[in-house]
Amino acid sequence: MKNVDDLEISKFEALASRWWDPNSEFKPLHDINPLRVNYISQHVNLVEKRILDIGCGGGILSEALAHHGAAVTAIDKAEASLSVAKLHLLESQLDISYLDSTAEEFAEVHPEQFDVVTCLEMLEHVPDPSSVVASCQRLVKPGGLVFFSTINRNPKSYLFAIVGAEYLLNLLPRGTHDYAKLIKPSELAAWSRQANLALRDQIGMGYNPLTKRYFLQNSLDVNYLACYEKPWA
Ligand code: SAH
Repeated sequence: MKNVDDLEISKFEALASRWWDPNSEFKPLHDINPLRVNYISQHVNLVEKRILDIGCGGGILSEALAHHGAAVTAIDKAEASLSVAKLHLLESQLDISYLDSTAEEFAEVHPEQFDVVTCLEMLEHVPDPSSVVASCQRLVKPGGLVFFSTINRNPKSYLFAIVGAEYLLNLLPRGTHDYAKLIKPSELAAWSRQANLALRDQIGMGYNPLTKRYFLQNSLDVNYLACYEKPWA
């Protein structure tokens, strides 16, 4: 059984033409992108690093990583999104190779080939996120880093990330996130520990609806980013 939720993939397929419209449903991803890339590049110098971006969508993160000098391989299961990503690449001419694959399939054929693996805003859209975490561990080289981002699961995150973002502020289409599939930092940490990934750092992301700005913060209550390392031994 593939670790893919076809309904989730079809939601992204339906929006695919708008990946690069900064005022579309993907506006939040465009807006948080500089924060995420900054966070990643504070932990690792991206120049000439081999990076795998899992669940790349239209390539918003993949392109930013390549802009920082990385050689990026990017995978997704939404064909329409990959087509848009490849079209955009014709313009940007960056070092990225887009492929149709899951983390699990890719780990079978490319174990320990990447200095860095990124898997942002993707884990909450798959049936078995722990299997993706284990695959990330297989894909990264010993001593390499894995970055995850997702949304915490608690009453506050329900209010902010679902009621606020999808119903009150209309930042995201309704139904983008399923509360039951949101992931607590402790759950991500447990899956990572089981997979032999060591937690290096984590940080929260917040949004101010008045200034319409996103910012990094200590609280992991709603959106958060995490950096894990694959030990040498
Ligand atoms: N990582 C990107 C896009 C996040 S949206 C960013 O943060 O900017 C989530 C993406 O995960 C979508 O493009 C969706 O098609 C993809 N996805 C969902 N399930 C997947 C799976 N099982 N394997 C690969 N990609 C998947």
